[in-house]
Amino acid sequence: MSKLKVAIIGGGIAGCATAYYLSKDGHDVTLFERDSLASHASGFALGAINPVIPETREPAYEALSTYSIGLHKHLADVLAGSGASGESLNFVRKPSVLLVRNEVEATAMRRVYEANASDHSYDLRWLSLGELSHIEARISGDVIGGLYIGEAYEVDPYKLTLSMWQAAEQNGAQMMNREVNEIDVSGGRVTGVVTGAQTFEADAVVAAAGPWSSQLLLGLGIAVPVSPLKGQIVRLNTPSPPMKVSLWWDEDYATTKSDGLTWIGTTEEEVGFDDRTSDAARDRIIGSAIAMLPYLEDAELVHQTACLRPMTPDKMPIIDSAAGPEGLVISTGAGRQGIALGPAMGIATAALVTGVESPIDVSAFSLDRFS
Ligand SMILES: Cc1cc2nc3c(=O)[nH]c(=O)nc-3n(C[C@H](O)[C@H](O)[C@H](O)COP(=O)(O)OP(=O)(O)OC[C@H]3O[C@@H](n4cnc5c(N)ncnc54)[C@H](O)[C@@H]3O)c2cc1C
Repeated sequence: MSKLKVAIIGGGIAGCATAYYLSKDGHDVTLFERDSLASHASGFALGAINPVIPETREPAYEALSTYSIGLHKHLADVLAGSGASGESLNFVRKPSVLLVRNEVEATAMRRVYEANASDHSYDLRWLSLGELSHIEARISGDVIGGLYIGEAYEVDPYKLTLSMWQAAEQNGAQMMNREVNEIDVSGGRVTGVVTGAQTFEADAVVAAAGPWSSQLLLGLGIAVPVSPLKGQIVRLNTPSPPMKVSLWWDEDYATTKSDGLTWIGTTEEEVGFDDRTSDAARDRIIGSAIAMLPYLEDAELVHQTACLRPMTPDKMPIIDSAAGPEGLVISTGAGRQGIALGPAMGIATAALVTGVESPIDVSAFSLDRFS
């Protein structure tokens, strides 16, 4: 296969994973990032990698997620210690428990459990509060049970994104710390990208600009329904022992991360590109977490972060090479699952760039599903 000159726009997990897989195959990769690598959602996400339980999402989404989890396991082995930082990605198996507080929630969750209990790949168990208390004794008595998912994982999303980039760099990829203002097109195919007064020629362009992808592609007349959905996380220091599982309820969660802090979240705020933290979100997140884990009342707030998820109307990513001029590949819109899906998005995007068959079918993630 001839080697391509590829410009990737965006240094989040979607762009860095694509750079990693393209550079591994010897392609000439330049990544354009206007801020710094993983300085937005990919650096500040929780880093939960929860499997998609069948029948809770579309089969194609479930397949993408399952495939990506396999890649995560592989990356944790091959990237650990390989980058300039030499650090581990803090990829760990961390069971999740989806908590329920009333019979309506319990009936719905039990149905999911019963439909999938015989599939041992997820290690699902239905737990009463009594059983749950053997795993996490500090849960509020308002909880009546939960769905335990044994095959769930956590990673440090910043280290993962950076490590993929560092491996790409070792394969010869280069980074330009610049904003791309325009994608150049001639004769129906991309010819490069424009940053300020400079034009960089390329055979292919990957638009992986997170929630900014729609602005970027509007210049080409391509309407991409990706919008920013702000999420905030509060990190707490507590003298109490770390949580051995992550707990989930409504849109919220709590888990102890590899930094020893208990991370609680989150919000889903449609406030445009405003990525500032707010006191109102802090108070809501803390109130919700204390209601589930009363011991957190005594915790000390260490840090609060906010960042923007790239969200599509159907909460599925866009991975597409047929939506615009030849040579353009769009890779964005992973919403709340972008860290989990990132490696699969990267490998599939790289395949679309080079024209080889993708190891995972991404036809369900084309842009034209919205038309
Ligand atoms: C609070 C919170 C918690 C989360 N928790 C999880 C989780 O536990 N598990 C999970 O799987 N996912 C989680 N996510 C989602 C995940 O973080 C995102 O889906 C993912 O990081 C998106 O990656 P991305 O590369 O598409 O976008 P981004 O990380 O936003 O990267 C896009 C990059 O493009 C750059 N850029 C934009 N325009 C240009 C331009 N014109 N020129 C040059 N550069 C440009 C930006 O500066 C940015 O660095 C969470 C998100 C939030 C907000």
